[in-house]
Amino acid sequence: SRDIIKEFENEIQAVGLQDEVKVVMTGCFGLCALGPIVIVYPEGSFYSRVKAEDVKEIVDEHLLKGRIVKRLLYQETVVDDNTIKSLNDTNFYSKQVRIALRNCGVINPENIDEYLATDGYKALEKVLTEMTPEQVIDIVKKSGLRGRGGAGFPTGMKWEFTAKAVGDKKYVCCNADEGDPGAFMDRSVLEGDPHALIEAMTIAAYAVGSDQGYVYVRAEYPIAVHRLEIALGQAREYGLLGKNILGTGFSFDIGIRLGAGAFVCGEETALMTSIEGKRGEPRPRPPFPANKGLFGKPTLLNNVETYANITQIILNGPEWFASMGTEKSKGTKVFALGGKITNTGLVEIPMGTTLRTIVEEIGGGCPNGKKFKAAQTGGPSGGCIPASLIDTKIDYDSLMAIGSMMGSGGLIVMDEDTCMVDIAKFFLEFTVDESCGKCAPCRIGTKRIYELLCKITDGKATMEDLDTLEELCHHVKENSLCGLGQTAPNPVLSTLHYFRDEYEAHVKEKR
Ligand code: SF4
Repeated sequence: SRDIIKEFENEIQAVGLQDEVKVVMTGCFGLCALGPIVIVYPEGSFYSRVKAEDVKEIVDEHLLKGRIVKRLLYQETVVDDNTIKSLNDTNFYSKQVRIALRNCGVINPENIDEYLATDGYKALEKVLTEMTPEQVIDIVKKSGLRGRGGAGFPTGMKWEFTAKAVGDKKYVCCNADEGDPGAFMDRSVLEGDPHALIEAMTIAAYAVGSDQGYVYVRAEYPIAVHRLEIALGQAREYGLLGKNILGTGFSFDIGIRLGAGAFVCGEETALMTSIEGKRGEPRPRPPFPANKGLFGKPTLLNNVETYANITQIILNGPEWFASMGTEKSKGTKVFALGGKITNTGLVEIPMGTTLRTIVEEIGGGCPNGKKFKAAQTGGPSGGCIPASLIDTKIDYDSLMAIGSMMGSGGLIVMDEDTCMVDIAKFFLEFTVDESCGKCAPCRIGTKRIYELLCKITDGKATMEDLDTLEELCHHVKENSLCGLGQTAPNPVLSTLHYFRDEYEAHVKEKR
């Protein structure tokens, strides 16, 4: 994409259009399968899989002669030779409602003025000049927003607990440690709209009474870290972060802490221990972070996507947000669509959208005419949803009811060629690797589960081994200290439940 930008700048200069046409670098627009993407405004022509060699043709034909380059257009947008339809009318985008992703692929994330031009920092101004902390918390509570990191705890209640906790110092933290295989929702927000996070964390700080925040972000996200650093510097320069924000007397600043790639550091207590500079291991709760978190002080911790909704809730009102979604799951959810799906990418859909809509309409189904077999939500903590449940509504409670979970938003699609035992084994191998080793049920149990899975796929298992596997999964689930161990058996349990015949087939093969 950088080469393409450079090529555009050179070509535009060469034909003398530099005063009329501006090249803007943006974050991801969601349809990753078709990248790199170039959109020409005002027409909104959506050129996909663009190469640097294509740039001259776009400049000569489109910019100089006003003729779209049909061969490069996203074919879904082509109506006939002279007409293109809006992106909002394509299958991929028409069902989406972009709140958390509103600016991704639209503004230049390294330019604060572009963020300001999309009502950026207006919510912060409103909060600091017109509202009390209690009113802010009340709005977040009324919106029905629940944590998008996985557990789905009501965000407003978390804010209230932290606000009411007694402490001479409080912290506001952001979990950007996104470790699920196949998940890149938070990364996209950080890379495409970092100011949205800074503004929301500052609002949260005002609401709970904090003057110091931290973003804990994985070191494997260098572009995200770089853009966040730029955004923090710009926000300070504009008086939107740091001392005496907007001249209101309120002060708050944010530091970045890099995670070193441990999945368990996405767990809230491990994350805070890691920020403190210690080995990132979970600890028992209570005490909960709202009362005793970072450095033993009351701490608010939300993930990137949760924060990305805050400014819009403040500006548009809680009723607006609560009007989307289902009774207990309000608003939208971002999913990273991956695996055997045509339109790999990032999608944001209203809660309550069915899995069928996501896979068949937005995702374009499985490639090469293959049949959809299952989808894994929630990464290694989640479960497999079989094709027979494709009409399940995607919300926190519906997913829990069928043995899966929302998780942070990874959604991996499998087609008819996928072996479900292999899938369970893949996720278990991951959790065995990532178990921090602090408690025996997870440290030893996940390893034994993995060994049993290997025994099954090696054709050495018996039917009794399947019963042992199931029993062991329940033990690990019930006795592990933190969420990693408590959810690690989910991929096995859900595939055993919905695809037991495949496990049995492996056992019978041996005979
Ligand atoms: Fe560590 Fe696993 Fe125990 Fe969590 S459940 S504390 S990851 S060993």
